[in-house]
Amino acid sequence: MSIEKNGFTFAFPEVERAYKTSFHRKLSSNVLGTILGTSLLVAIASGIGVYLLHVGTQHLLNYFLKMGSLCYGLLGVIIYPLIVCFGGMLIGNTVGKASVEAKFPDTETIAKLALLIGLAGYLAYLTMYMLFFNAPERFDHWVDYARQAFYLFLFVGLAAAGATKKVEETPFCENCNEFMTLDRIGDSSYGWDITRESAILEILDSRAFENLCELGNDWVHHKKGAINNYCIVEIWHCPNCNKNGYVNGLTIQAREEVNSNGQTTRKSESQRIHSSHVDGEEIQILMRAKQALGTPPDAITQA
Ligand SMILES: [Zn+2]
Repeated sequence: MSIEKNGFTFAFPEVERAYKTSFHRKLSSNVLGTILGTSLLVAIASGIGVYLLHVGTQHLLNYFLKMGSLCYGLLGVIIYPLIVCFGGMLIGNTVGKASVEAKFPDTETIAKLALLIGLAGYLAYLTMYMLFFNAPERFDHWVDYARQAFYLFLFVGLAAAGATKKVEETPFCENCNEFMTLDRIGDSSYGWDITRESAILEILDSRAFENLCELGNDWVHHKKGAINNYCIVEIWHCPNCNKNGYVNGLTIQAREEVNSNGQTTRKSESQRIHSSHVDGEEIQILMRAKQALGTPPDAITQA
């Protein structure tokens, strides 16, 4: 039984995240203030930044290459939209972080807020475009309208998707009204070799978490994070009560690929092979195992 995912073959099936986000929270003015406060500023700055980067790359290309139709095509089809994507993702990430800071786990409401904040980002871009782009052919073709509609879609869509993803990934303790913190055995720079995958899965599924120590700590590790096939364990726990948490087992595969231009790119994919709720005692056992196993000296982060 093997599972194909994005060109990688995984031995075990993906499981659903045990944590489910909570909906329908009352949006207090405090929460709204925290979320809008920084997010709106970042959104407006992103909109203006996207415009300036558009103008900047156009001038750069103009300077270094003779601006032909190919260049304009490249700008219009690839570079401009990529810059807009960057702006939208920045807005989404900011709204997500602000929601965690505001202790607000309702992803439905966050998505709606992020749509509005993404719209503000787009309007900031559009204002710059209308004010400073003085070519008369600004809106004289249906393509101009289609392009603006596409940019609007990217701004609001990526803002909403990014914000909800951030919040969905972070479990929330309903008892304490607190987002959980993450400790990991392994990260992007070290982990257990993928040959331990079935042993790790068996330990997690049988809930004999103390046995993680028996796997030993002969990590695969690399100071630049360029490790390829390995497993890690995530321990989410409520920082307030420490009685409520989740444990996830993840398998990560990566490889270098040479694209048609001869450039080497790194491609990676992860698969969640275990996810379950843990109580206070189990959190203690997991944290003791993490401590006992330690981290290699060249690990990138300890978190
Ligand atoms: Zn708690």
